[in-house]
Amino acid sequence: MANPDIIYTKVDEAPELASASLLPIIRRFAAAADISVGTKDISLAGRILAKFPEALSADQRIDDHLAELGETVKTPEANVVKLPNISASVPQLVAAIRELQGQGYAIPDYPENPATDAEKETRARYDTLKGSAVNPVLREGNSDRRAATAVKKFAQDNPHRMGDWTADSKTRVASMGKNDFRSNEVSATLAKAATAKIVLDHAGGETVLKDGISYPAGTVVDATFMSAKALDAFLMDEINKTKAEGTLFSLHMKATMMKVSDPIIFGHAVKAWLAPVFEKYGDKLNDLGVSGNAGLGTLLEKVSGESEIMAAIDAVMADRPPLYMVDSDKGITNLHVPSDVIIDASMPALIRAGGKGWGPDGKEHDTVCVIPDDSYAPVYDETVEFFKANGKLNPATAGTVQNLGLMAQKAEEYGSHPTTFEIPADGTVKMILDDGTVLHQHTVEKGDIWRSASTRKAPIEDWVDLAIARQKATGFRSIFWLDETRAHDAELLGYVKPILDAKGVADKFEIMAPREATRASLETITKGENTIAITGNVLRDYLTDLFPILELATSAKMLSIVKLMQGGGLFETGAGGSAPKHVQQLQAENHLRWDSLGEFCALGESFKFLADAQDNAKARVLGDAVEAATQGILDNDRSPSRKVGEPDNRDSHYWFARYWAEALAAQTDDAALAGEFAPIAAALAENEAAIIGELAAAQGKPADTGGYYNNDPAKLSAVMRPSATLNGIIDAQA
Ligand code: NAP
Ligand code: MG
Repeated sequence: MANPDIIYTKVDEAPELASASLLPIIRRFAAAADISVGTKDISLAGRILAKFPEALSADQRIDDHLAELGETVKTPEANVVKLPNISASVPQLVAAIRELQGQGYAIPDYPENPATDAEKETRARYDTLKGSAVNPVLREGNSDRRAATAVKKFAQDNPHRMGDWTADSKTRVASMGKNDFRSNEVSATLAKAATAKIVLDHAGGETVLKDGISYPAGTVVDATFMSAKALDAFLMDEINKTKAEGTLFSLHMKATMMKVSDPIIFGHAVKAWLAPVFEKYGDKLNDLGVSGNAGLGTLLEKVSGESEIMAAIDAVMADRPPLYMVDSDKGITNLHVPSDVIIDASMPALIRAGGKGWGPDGKEHDTVCVIPDDSYAPVYDETVEFFKANGKLNPATAGTVQNLGLMAQKAEEYGSHPTTFEIPADGTVKMILDDGTVLHQHTVEKGDIWRSASTRKAPIEDWVDLAIARQKATGFRSIFWLDETRAHDAELLGYVKPILDAKGVADKFEIMAPREATRASLETITKGENTIAITGNVLRDYLTDLFPILELATSAKMLSIVKLMQGGGLFETGAGGSAPKHVQQLQAENHLRWDSLGEFCALGESFKFLADAQDNAKARVLGDAVEAATQGILDNDRSPSRKVGEPDNRDSHYWFARYWAEALAAQTDDAALAGEFAPIAAALAENEAAIIGELAAAQGKPADTGGYYNNDPAKLSAVMRPSATLNGIIDAQA
């Protein structure tokens, strides 16, 4: 079957709720131009079900849509609108499995401690679903993220609230500085294609950790490790210092994206926090299957029946500095769930709030922000110091930081690759090529976290070319965020500098380490000027939350284009995630504060891409009208409100449909489209009061969509499309 013209992804949580209302509108409008809009299911629930066909009845089975999309993005026709999906932590995965089982899907339990071969096999299948399992498959291109002009202008005209920064703030960023991934990194560029194995030489012989990894010629291959002993000493030291300083303690990791390394580091922090308990009751905790990696929440659940241990935990907690809270009302701390506090969202929120985090007393306090690895911690450290010295940023006058990120073909997927290991015994880790060369080696101890990541040549060259094109198009100050003193970055510069020289544009670019680049970028936007941050994959992720949250109050409204290397287009809807808190609010009071502006921006780009790729003039008319509608939403303040009883996501979709129809009716490039949409625009305007009334009447009571991870389509549609009048107009046959 031929692919639809546009593929819209079926995802999780808030964006999936929003799709139930928005997608019928998109399909109706696209149909007028004979453009088909299909869906592919990349939700966590869908991905789980696709992994266990043998456990399901024929009508319950679904194909592996993620694998299909992974092929589609390698074709020039690809045109995919990608919404945010859950990058599952273990607690989320377990919850999704339980829900599906409850709905009658006979999938196996998640084996926490797999013993039999069958359990190990089940666990291996579930493990492929953990963390960032989707984006690396779809991102067959590099990333271009920026605030659309209309969005930036709106933010300047309507500046959001920013917390005050003062010079005496005790908030600071703490990182190891030695014995971490940054300091132990080694890197090399492969002259020829190679296959590699990773082995551990130890007292008992040689253990093969991974075999048969193949790299094309020109790949940059890194290896590094974090010392577990150094990490523990650092964590203990920072807990003690925090207590002395009288601030909150917080840990900021990316346990979703860096799905192997970061839960382990998180587990070290839980164990350091409860060190006296682990010292005294270590064996007992082991028997109970408590590791710390799943967080304090799971730990407390598992030991809840052990009153002696619970009392010991209470005593330690009382002695520790106050923890930064995820939800002080519910007693959920920073250390409860590894995926609750995610560095790229948590650090900008704290910085925007003037360096304040929420404490157990429900009040804001200065906070020590622990970011163990020093590779990117300087970005946050420098930002904190900059605002301490200069005061908060003024969003009314600040310029913008755009981003060009290297990410194609799993470039720099630190800590998530199947080449990250918790070292089982003291020894030497060696990375050995098929010709016998030892490419990298490290002396390690049991418990150290060792990882290798790779970056291919073609994506690097494509990224530099994109940077040259964007610099030329904008004339903005353009900075490669690369640190000559860091092993990996030095190898990348081995590509970057010759390309810039060969194209005669070296004088148009600056090259700076992350700390210096952060300062230069903050200075530039403070002056009201703009800059392009040309970064690797992790900084792409971090910066496209940090700067948008400071400039626009949210990263959800970013234009996020992936120029696929084979010619297709992948249009991501903003840089934010799937906003679980929004789902809770919908369930409690039927108000959805999710803002679909990211979807509107991506949709406009998708139509325009279709127009260019297929020389489809109607697609261009639709795309231009989407842009006008998006502008209308901003200019007329039709974005969702946060409070129940006020307009929400569904209202914004009504206005989007109306402005879109009005723009189509008003344009003169395509008379047939104008003729078709004039009566729709009129009907939407005439029935405004009725529609808004019906949407408002739906709010204020609990809403049931038949599931959290796997909604019931009919119930979901009933909740998200409560206006019969609007549905009548949208669903009417042309
Ligand atoms: P998040 O979903 O971005 O949510 C953090 C907060 O950002 C939300 O609570 C909300 O603030 C605000 N927000 C984000 N998108 C919004 C939108 N469209 N409209 C209005 N507000 C928006 O980040 P998270 O809690 O760290 O991550 C949640 C899940 O998303 C995780 O499973 C994560 O792995 C996944 N994720 C996926 C992607 C992706 O697929 N590209 C990217 C990032 C994260 P308020 O609550 O104040 O309204
Ligand atoms: Mg991010």
